[in-house]
Amino acid sequence: MTKIILDCYTDEPAGLGVPPYIGTYPRYLFGKLMSEKRKNEEVYYFTIDDLRLFLKHKNKKPETKTHEKTNITIHNLTKNSQNFKEIFESAKEIYVVLGVHVPGKYLTAVPATIHEINTLFKELLKRHCITAKRILTGPAATEFGTRLEGGKFAEKQDLSLFNTVTPEIVSDYGEIAKYAVLGVEIVDQIVNKEGWNYVIAEIETARGCGKGVACSFCTEPLKNKLEFRKVKDIVDEVKALNKQGVKYFRLGKQSDFFAWDASDIKKLLSGIRKECNIDVLHIDNIDPVRADEEKVKLVVEHCTSGNIAAMGVESFDAEVVKKNNLNSNPEVTMRAIKLINKIGAERGENGMPKFVPGLNIIFGLIGEGKKTQEANMKYLQEILDSELLLRRINIRQVAVFPGTQLEKEAGNKYLRKNKKYYWKWRNEIRQKIDNVMLKKLVPKDLVLKDCIAEIYDGKTTFLRQIGTYPLIIGVKERLELGKFYNIKVTGHMLRSIVGEVV
Ligand code: SF4
Repeated sequence: MTKIILDCYTDEPAGLGVPPYIGTYPRYLFGKLMSEKRKNEEVYYFTIDDLRLFLKHKNKKPETKTHEKTNITIHNLTKNSQNFKEIFESAKEIYVVLGVHVPGKYLTAVPATIHEINTLFKELLKRHCITAKRILTGPAATEFGTRLEGGKFAEKQDLSLFNTVTPEIVSDYGEIAKYAVLGVEIVDQIVNKEGWNYVIAEIETARGCGKGVACSFCTEPLKNKLEFRKVKDIVDEVKALNKQGVKYFRLGKQSDFFAWDASDIKKLLSGIRKECNIDVLHIDNIDPVRADEEKVKLVVEHCTSGNIAAMGVESFDAEVVKKNNLNSNPEVTMRAIKLINKIGAERGENGMPKFVPGLNIIFGLIGEGKKTQEANMKYLQEILDSELLLRRINIRQVAVFPGTQLEKEAGNKYLRKNKKYYWKWRNEIRQKIDNVMLKKLVPKDLVLKDCIAEIYDGKTTFLRQIGTYPLIIGVKERLELGKFYNIKVTGHMLRSIVGEVV
């Protein structure tokens, strides 16, 4: 019996599964299906890009002409792509992994929506390419749905094409310990026929949130109770992926990496470094409230440079913080920013600072007004004036999910009220803070090592270092994709840089 995992990609507050990241959902599921596999049965991994290629491009990847942009809707092909029709026709079960809860823009991929998958499945049915049972899993299968753009309600979902809808097929941490290791062979199916697809494995360390009352917009505490994986299980999983050839890792699937106590962080990070031969080890998501010197030092010591402490600050407006039950007030956030800079801002091997903070800011929260933007600018300017470094300020409009405090108390009231200011507010932060900060973070003539060429836009090639929130670098020549280059910074755009190969 043939079983298929169709990865339409996932992005949640805790956990990324959009290429080049390979998320936990397809890996755990692959492990489970492999464990149940009988003789003559096969388990295949496909991406939404494979499906789009088959239906929209007759399964032939068009070449990117010199005046064109790389088509990122069909960029992340698996090596099963060429046999799409035969495999799909023979499949008895298709597991669709889908759901974006933190809308974003991605350099090299476009996650699918329920609407898109419905359209494509209808086309497959019309062409008699599928008879398989269809199972929807991942964030879109929760009651919160999915939303690819911020500032809107979650997508109203027509799930009638699915026989089963289940958020998580593997959820127990005991089972995950086993399936995560069994699932590592999935990466063998990802490398495309040009042979250069690389993956960053998003590793889960915990779920839920220890904060008590949920932040007004967040679905994480509604979805999960606070629970930590065993350190040994995490190290075993990283070891198994590493043996399978994965060299890039992010400990990113948790709401707060610093919710772990220092002795466990030490065991986890030193265990990974001792047992594995890896090129990138980064983290994601920390709560400023729990940042202390010992934990920050451990991250700096054991992780690789270019690492970022992404902090969900959301707002520096004390009233908004209170009304939305946000986790950190401005003073606590500033303390954490200073601490992480003191220990982590030194430049590391790849040219980037070793470990610096990144901030998430959200528009559309309860109580938001002009004073919110004033407070945000005041603190951001203070950070800039204090010579502290920030790598990335992520600004997004909130997505209103059912069941959250935001949905119950205000819905999209503040989004509607303030929408007319958002471009101006965002632009003010981009012009006055981001751009100046970028010049400090990566000054002219600095060399950033090991940047991988990923896509073209006309005669420009875009590259990134591999890791968490890497800077986008534009080089004005067509470099061979999939190769690594050292790039000297020659100029700064608002949020990206221009460079030349050295
Ligand atoms: S701290 Fe807030 S945003 Fe973070 S996981 Fe908990 S509830 Fe969600």
